[in-house]
Amino acid sequence: MTASFIRSDDFAAFVTAIIEAGPVYGPVAKRSRFAFARLETPEELRLDYDVSILPPKKLFFPPAQDLLQFDEAGFRAPLEPTEKVLLGVHFYDVKAIDQTDLLFSERNYDINYMAHRETTTIVAANIQTVSSRAFFASVGADVQPKGHDAFLTAIAGGYVLETLTERGGALLKFGAFQPATDAQLKEAAAVNAAVLEQCPEKLEHGTEAIAAKVRAAFKNEAMWTAMAADCFSCGTCNTVCPTCYCFDVHDTWNVDQTSGQRTRYWDGCLTEDFAKCSLGEGACENFREERATRFRHRMMRKATYLNEKLGGPACVGCGRCSAGCTADIADPVRIINQIMAS
Ligand code: SF4
Ligand code: SF4
Repeated sequence: MTASFIRSDDFAAFVTAIIEAGPVYGPVAKRSRFAFARLETPEELRLDYDVSILPPKKLFFPPAQDLLQFDEAGFRAPLEPTEKVLLGVHFYDVKAIDQTDLLFSERNYDINYMAHRETTTIVAANIQTVSSRAFFASVGADVQPKGHDAFLTAIAGGYVLETLTERGGALLKFGAFQPATDAQLKEAAAVNAAVLEQCPEKLEHGTEAIAAKVRAAFKNEAMWTAMAADCFSCGTCNTVCPTCYCFDVHDTWNVDQTSGQRTRYWDGCLTEDFAKCSLGEGACENFREERATRFRHRMMRKATYLNEKLGGPACVGCGRCSAGCTADIADPVRIINQIMAS
């Protein structure tokens, strides 16, 4: 690992140089909010963003992704991953990417995700603005982000760039970096520690206690029914979540009726048809027909079911679901704190 410093005055030239070398994606303004998009100029980059509308996983796992194209001649995979830089990812989103990396590479190695992931250099960045519903400091606090190649921290007069991998180190040649001083490293560490004190929301208990009590609440149907009473089953809480990874696969035929494509789309366990299965001959069964069972399933996945496999909860405290839910009932902090207090 190396630690370098670049002056604020030299930073735009660094970003320009990496943009000229290949595609760079980073947070940009989208009306009053922010989204990860391909950068054309360094001025578009908004490292002061609070949280992006959709998580950066969309680069590796797009909302709609063609898996194959077919015609009379056979099948072709349209997969064409390109080397790219993903700049400005907050640490909670790196933790979420770590989870999808594991889930898409163990057992069934998902080439359509991993090919994009393996061609991406991730530069994480410190959180300069904390979003209104964030609780990243109190969820899975003992799980550290690990999938990034470098970490950028804004300090007085410039940025400290800590490189963690060869890919991260390869970025240094694009900018006027100097070795960081001990004082600059100390300031960067203080900046990153201070942001943990600024979350507006907080879980009151640790991961293991939460996992045990949420699981024990499984059969409290009256509680889940009350919690889900205002749910629209819109699936927004799934769509915006950086750790959700479910998808559906559709085959679409072109007008010629001999060619077409197989496409996967993000799916969400809160939507009505998510658990609907074919029984054959036109019959089907929906094994989570009630809103309450779908609402409960999401919380079980986030707080309990995956903990052992992931080494922590399947929630990183970004607060996107809390902010995105029209009925304002999706907030894991409120749900979990209520269960813990019962
Ligand atoms: S909890 Fe909120 S965001 Fe999630 S499906 Fe229900 S209404 Fe939509
Ligand atoms: S459950 Fe909500 S707060 Fe947790 S990672 Fe998903 S969107 Fe973020």
